[in-house]
Amino acid sequence: MKKQFAVIGLGRFGGSVCKELYTMGHEVLAIDVNEERVNNYAHTSTHAVVANGTDENALTSLGIRNFEHVIVAIGDNIQASILCTLLLKELKVKQVWVKAQNQYHHKVVEKIGADRIIHPEHDMGVRVAHYLVSEKIIDYIELSPEYSIVELMATEKVSKRTIAQLNIRAKFGCTILGLKRGEEVIVSPTPDQMIIEKDIIIIVGENNDLKRFEEDGL
Ligand code: ADP
Repeated sequence: MKKQFAVIGLGRFGGSVCKELYTMGHEVLAIDVNEERVNNYAHTSTHAVVANGTDENALTSLGIRNFEHVIVAIGDNIQASILCTLLLKELKVKQVWVKAQNQYHHKVVEKIGADRIIHPEHDMGVRVAHYLVSEKIIDYIELSPEYSIVELMATEKVSKRTIAQLNIRAKFGCTILGLKRGEEVIVSPTPDQMIIEKDIIIIVGENNDLKRFEEDGL
């Protein structure tokens, strides 16, 4: 289903969000105060306009209230980011996601109703650290401070054995959500599903359990 998004601020972060949404076939309104930046996104957004995200009249005339999802990706100008978030929530935009620069910025936009706050550098740093520590970890998504979903590479140790034989849930308290085998994705595999070396195991659990599985189970 096609969704409508608006991205305010076309720096590295906002620009990547805009391009990716557009590539996925969604409608994206790209907004920035900088004309050159706006021109750069003319072909990778549905509409690209020069406007100030802190100007209520400008936001209203762009029909921003009709967008279900608005991403505030104004970088260093924390004051502008806060004001823009406030205006969007006053205009009753349902989902306002904000890129935060630091913890103070996070706290303020949280208070004024931001629906999701993103720290791209911090989040990516955490993920990269996990990739660095283990060659088996392909990807990592933090669900909460205690729980995560990880993608792990199946080793020879588990190869040609079924999920039931490996007894992962009982031994490690983790649940396999899916397997990726080349282009093929096996979602919600049954206990008799065989795992083969180099399969990517998508697994959810408590961080300590996942670590135990990665170190002792694989
Ligand atoms: P990043 O770290 O993601 O690269 P930047 O600080 O480089 O972020 O980019 C932020 C973008 O937000 C810039 O293109 C800037 O012109 C834009 N911007 C700053 N203030 C406003 C505003 N009030 N309204 C709209 N866009 C803004």
